[in-house]
Amino acid sequence: MSYRICCIGAGYVGGPSMIVMADSCPGLQIHVVDHDKQRIDSWNNLIAKDLPIYEPGLDEIHKRVLGKSLFFSTDVELYIKNADMVFITVNTPTKINGHGAGEAADLTNIELAARTIAEFVKGTTIVVERSTIPVRTADVLKRIFRKNSSENIHILSNPEFMAQGSAVQDLISPDRVLIGGDDQRAIDELAGIYQHWVPSERILRTNLWSAELAKLTANAFLAQRISSVNTIAALCESSGAHIDEVAQAIGADRRIGHHFLRAGPGFGGSCFRKDILNLVYLSHYFGLPDVAYYWRSVLTINDWTRARITELIINKLFSTLQGKKIVILGFTFKPHTNDIRESPAIYICQDLLDEGAMLSIHDPMATIESIHQALSWQSPSSVTFNQDLMSSFREADAAVLLTEWPIYLKLDWKLLSSYMRSPAWFFDTRNVLNRAELENYGLNLWSIGFGGIH
Ligand code: NAD
Repeated sequence: MSYRICCIGAGYVGGPSMIVMADSCPGLQIHVVDHDKQRIDSWNNLIAKDLPIYEPGLDEIHKRVLGKSLFFSTDVELYIKNADMVFITVNTPTKINGHGAGEAADLTNIELAARTIAEFVKGTTIVVERSTIPVRTADVLKRIFRKNSSENIHILSNPEFMAQGSAVQDLISPDRVLIGGDDQRAIDELAGIYQHWVPSERILRTNLWSAELAKLTANAFLAQRISSVNTIAALCESSGAHIDEVAQAIGADRRIGHHFLRAGPGFGGSCFRKDILNLVYLSHYFGLPDVAYYWRSVLTINDWTRARITELIINKLFSTLQGKKIVILGFTFKPHTNDIRESPAIYICQDLLDEGAMLSIHDPMATIESIHQALSWQSPSSVTFNQDLMSSFREADAAVLLTEWPIYLKLDWKLLSSYMRSPAWFFDTRNVLNRAELENYGLNLWSIGFGGIH
């Protein structure tokens, strides 16, 4: 009988990571289970545009493996019962109520998954934590399993490091696979699966706590680089320096490197904010208030970055946005995903609406429903969605580029400048637009971190 895997949670991590695993290991039988029926139904169809998640290249692999080595189901209990290995990829948001609210991770879904595993698991089973969780969560799982199951259950930590927008590539060719645990045979069993497509030297083995903490730390370091470069972008604007030139110069130092040195409107996505908050909470919990303060400042700078962009837009538009039309280019937190969770666009659009602006929002992938939901408390008449991108510029006073989708780089500047009210402004929060091209058609351009001309 083939080796049977159950993955609890069919979201951004569970879906793509199991699709790639199924493709690389046709000998496995993988069942991805979730209690969200709508999500499972979407994964079970073969029409690419109806998949619940957009990631470049995902639909083709999904089509190849669905119904062969990969299955999606809402029958959580059945597939736990049948599994040799159970992955947990449920969501772990920040707690909203009670002790630790606003910082600590809400482990309700993890605990529920663990209790269901304890109740239904049969025989020796490996349980793999793949969700991002606070360090020492495996202790909680161990206690739940010990009290509620007589089966032999081994716990491993195997955090996921993929980035949305490049998930398929990251999963096919990961920089590293991290496996933490205290049972050598269980570690070897999981490593054996990855070895089907990941070179052995990229599979790192650690103790449980190092693996759990490494994931939070990786996200904190990535977010910290974005906040750092965004502070320097503001200094560039005031001093006449250019952020891309500064980034190029410092990135050439191999100790620093070029990655994650692009200035922007602040980081978004479901992970960075919640994982740093979790790190802040853990630092307090372990009696390290200075460490908590240090990591909290990464979030403070992120909030400040978004607020400073809104302020700047207001200033350039003669200190009032009342009744002015602003085109929003991009709403997802980065290109090549349909995910808008924690996107800077949500905060910036809310602030612009508060100032009385009328927004025409465009994004190639985010759904209108998800954007509506994110801006739900705002007056719906102040927000429009125009699928015909060019016509959305009619009578607009400004456009704000928030996500660097490639289509925004090749607009018909001549035509749209004729549509817009003068003086027309472009606010390029990603520093990707061609200054000469825009200025050639009389458009004013503000680019983040571009000093000397504002
Ligand atoms: P998600 O919200 O997209 O998906 C989680 C899924 O789990 C949902 O479909 C939900 O219905 C399901 N679920 C929750 N509890 C369940 C239960 N008890 N039984 C069955 N199904 C249940 O979340 P995601 O973005 O895939 O993230 C999952 C975890 O992975 C989080 O801890 C996150 O921090 C981490 N992570 C996310 C990313 C990313 O890029 N999104 C990257 C690395 C790690």
